[in-house]
Amino acid sequence: MSRTPVLTLLAASLVCAGAHAATPGNDPAALTKIRDTAMRSDWAYQRLADMTDLIGPRLSGSAGEAAAVNQVADAMRKLGAKVTLQPVKVPHWVRGTETAELVDYKGRPAGVTQKVVLTALGGSGATPEAGLSAPLIVVRSLEELQARAAEVKGRIVLFDVPFDQSMADRGLAGQAYGQVVKFRGGGTKMAADLGAAAVLVSSAGGANFRLPHTGSSGLQDGARIPAAAVAVEDALLMARLAARGPLSMKLTLTPKTLPDADSFNVIADFPGTDKADEIVIVSGHLDSWDLGTGANDDGAGVVSAMAVVETLKKLDFTPRRTIRVIAWANEENGTRGARTYAEANRTLAPKHFAAIETDNGSGRPFGMRHSAPYEAGKSFAPLQATLETMGAAALQRSDVLGTGDLSGLEQLGVPCFSPLIDSSDYFNYHHTAADTLDKVNPDNLKRHVALLSGYTWYLANMDAPLGRWNAPVKQ
Ligand SMILES: [Zn+2]
Repeated sequence: MSRTPVLTLLAASLVCAGAHAATPGNDPAALTKIRDTAMRSDWAYQRLADMTDLIGPRLSGSAGEAAAVNQVADAMRKLGAKVTLQPVKVPHWVRGTETAELVDYKGRPAGVTQKVVLTALGGSGATPEAGLSAPLIVVRSLEELQARAAEVKGRIVLFDVPFDQSMADRGLAGQAYGQVVKFRGGGTKMAADLGAAAVLVSSAGGANFRLPHTGSSGLQDGARIPAAAVAVEDALLMARLAARGPLSMKLTLTPKTLPDADSFNVIADFPGTDKADEIVIVSGHLDSWDLGTGANDDGAGVVSAMAVVETLKKLDFTPRRTIRVIAWANEENGTRGARTYAEANRTLAPKHFAAIETDNGSGRPFGMRHSAPYEAGKSFAPLQATLETMGAAALQRSDVLGTGDLSGLEQLGVPCFSPLIDSSDYFNYHHTAADTLDKVNPDNLKRHVALLSGYTWYLANMDAPLGRWNAPVKQ
């Protein structure tokens, strides 16, 4: 931070000398201290290094995921938080061999085959151990697949729609992702229903370094055909070859779907004072995909949420409402953790004052999105003033935030919050082997902690309720 300690002290003394007693949450001096304390601390980065370097990937049901539950719980206990492990049954899918080559295409010189770089999608079914060979068809939309339904049976379907990085570069990364992730989530099922031998999607992400991006296929028991994401370069190659004439692939994918495993939501409470029965959640998801170490998705979110308590403890600040840090289980391939929590807290939903989740990477944060009633947005002005100096004062309202883990609580009426983050390069690494600690900028991580600490503290100390979230009226 550029603000000098002298100015901070001056601001604090002016507030202390003021005639009226501000509530702690609205006290600009307290908000400034929180921001500056967060910006000076590398505690969150150290926890992220522990999680990613010592444990690594944390896919649901894996040993890494179980180790991460213990690591986060221990760190929160050390801070003096009251830790509860909430049991959650999670899917247990394990990656196997994954190879592919183009074994025939028009113009292929004798003896030549071409390797295709791909990675199985979560929940994918398996080919025979020795692989399968089948003709491949290339489509560019769900509608085209439907129109060509008669050609699908016994073939490998490729959805060749590349991620639009130019949209991501201009602040629309989420929308760019949405345009292609529908093939991974819904196109796979459509191909299975039409009798495809296997289904491939062009990777849902940027950075054209021939890097495949995994993610959930959405396929369920009874219809688990082999499903994989191919590197964008390979999807483009197959589309070019398909334009020359018929082509065939030999595909080997041997993942396994094991019985559901035992996991936990890690819930760490920092009890409040006069409103201790009311809860403000600050959270991220503890599981990650298995290819990288989930530094951005969502290790950064979990450690930022954890560091809210570290920041407040360091300042000896106690909130009025209880601050509840949650490291959610199984966001990536089931959201079972969030669903378990929402179900268990159905009758307690009115006691949940607000809920925050951060799950869009560790890029620079610009402020917050929220789904509280419109009028509530006006009450954050003192907090926004403090965050302005770090460029994080923006506040946007949406009817529905719909973040992976908060949807259930949002539907129960809980106002939800999620940071506005520069995600322009997030999908370069997201769900790939390259989502590692070195991609996280330590200064931006401090900004995340400052933003989350400010909002969590502010929400935990507000006098008036925000009002409850109401489902938007369908037009
Ligand atoms: Zn995530």
